[in-house]
Amino acid sequence: MRVAILGGGFTGLTSSYYLAKKDHKVTLFEKEKVLGGLAVGFKGEGWDWYLERAYHHLLDSEDDILNFAKDVGFEDIFFKETSTDSLYEVDNNYRTFPVDTPQDFLKFPLLSFPQKIRTGLVIAFLKASPFLSLYEKYTAKEFLSRAMGEQVWKIFWQDLFRKKFGKYAENVLTSFIWARIKKRAKKLGYIEGGFQTFINVVEEKNKKLGVILNKGFEVKSIEKGNNGFIITYADAKQKMQEEHFDVVISTLPTAIMGKITTSLFASSYLDRFKKLKYLHAVVLILETKDPILAKTYWLNVCAPKLPLMIVAQHTNFIDKSHYGGKHIAYVGWYVDRDDPLIKMNQKQVLDFCAPHLKKISPHNLHIFNYHHFIGPFAQPIFDKDFLQNKPNFQSPLKNFYVANLDMTYPYDRGTNYAVRLGREVAGMV
Ligand SMILES: Cc1cc2nc3c(=O)[nH]c(=O)nc-3n(C[C@H](O)[C@H](O)[C@H](O)COP(=O)(O)OP(=O)(O)OC[C@H]3O[C@@H](n4cnc5c(N)ncnc54)[C@H](O)[C@@H]3O)c2cc1C
Repeated sequence: MRVAILGGGFTGLTSSYYLAKKDHKVTLFEKEKVLGGLAVGFKGEGWDWYLERAYHHLLDSEDDILNFAKDVGFEDIFFKETSTDSLYEVDNNYRTFPVDTPQDFLKFPLLSFPQKIRTGLVIAFLKASPFLSLYEKYTAKEFLSRAMGEQVWKIFWQDLFRKKFGKYAENVLTSFIWARIKKRAKKLGYIEGGFQTFINVVEEKNKKLGVILNKGFEVKSIEKGNNGFIITYADAKQKMQEEHFDVVISTLPTAIMGKITTSLFASSYLDRFKKLKYLHAVVLILETKDPILAKTYWLNVCAPKLPLMIVAQHTNFIDKSHYGGKHIAYVGWYVDRDDPLIKMNQKQVLDFCAPHLKKISPHNLHIFNYHHFIGPFAQPIFDKDFLQNKPNFQSPLKNFYVANLDMTYPYDRGTNYAVRLGREVAGMV
């Protein structure tokens, strides 16, 4: 069958690989000139490894991507211990506390001993528990403040949720925190050469299997044709073209798919997607002389007065020699589309966050270079509307499939789940 895959991130590339192996005639459309989607990487001058535009690592329980890597003959994925800290404001000072192990938690000074024991027991319960329907009945705020106590919610969780989900923080379901605790790992994984090295290998494998990779081709609309679908796209020279396919797999963000399929689907199907809420990722990458965080890889910024969500000191995880000897740090936020941060250019983002970084860094901020990335629709909000309206693989039209990051629920989106979705949707064709 002639199969069109919309989107050249991990989901699209995995599904094209498995479909081509089944001898389908596969064409993939990607609007950017480089494949990789949200996991895309770039190389600065003098670097021998790619760096992701948005911080990326793997968890040691993520078998789907490890098995896919084996399938394509790529073995260069490694795991190592890292440190995660959370930053709080205590008596007008910023202090960081490790939050990696139960022992760290027992030392956490902002909760009383009974609060720590109660919280530890609830975390152990969530870790051991299978998915329960209870987790979809209550919001994380309701569940955590009842199970751990109101004070524990306020002191430990509230700002973590506010930083990640903004105004939606109190609507997020317990299933989100269950999945996070379930998957939590001390060892994190990374790909030798950066995620883009793996993406490039997958690209080559796809080409060898005969997949047509249309990079720089934006799909503009899809209509029903005789026995299939007509895809209209702008080619690399911005010339409009049309092509016929028997099967379409959309890996695009649901909101974008909704816009290009208005003449294909009934509004009763598309309208439900309007109830889904998303935040967009804003990421600033800093190349600096000294690390911004002394030893920590991952810092959750829980202090409300510091308008940063996370700082990830990549070179406390991966050796700086791969980046020309410079230290690399990410600063990240998830924001609404009307947030001022999303409208700022990269210099404005830097000016906005530099004074705050100075407050937490042990060194002077000596910046060599910086980069800026926006990941559209990167963080779906797992609330009650989401449960009722999220897409499924099967659309109302036979042979039109959806596989995108809204479907990794209850797990937070990730390359591992993208690979799983890609493999599963390929199995349906
Ligand atoms: C800030 C951030 C941090 C993350 N951290 C991690 C992490 O640590 N570990 C991890 O595993 N995952 C992480 N992820 C998630 C991971 O990157 C994604 O889950 C995964 O890459 C999604 O792949 P995908 O193929 O489903 O979607 P995408 O990568 O979004 O691919 C969709 C593709 O569709 C293309 N497209 C859009 N519109 C059109 C159109 N009209 N025509 C043609 N093409 C179009 C886009 O350009 C894009 O390439 C992170 C994501 C973000 C944003």
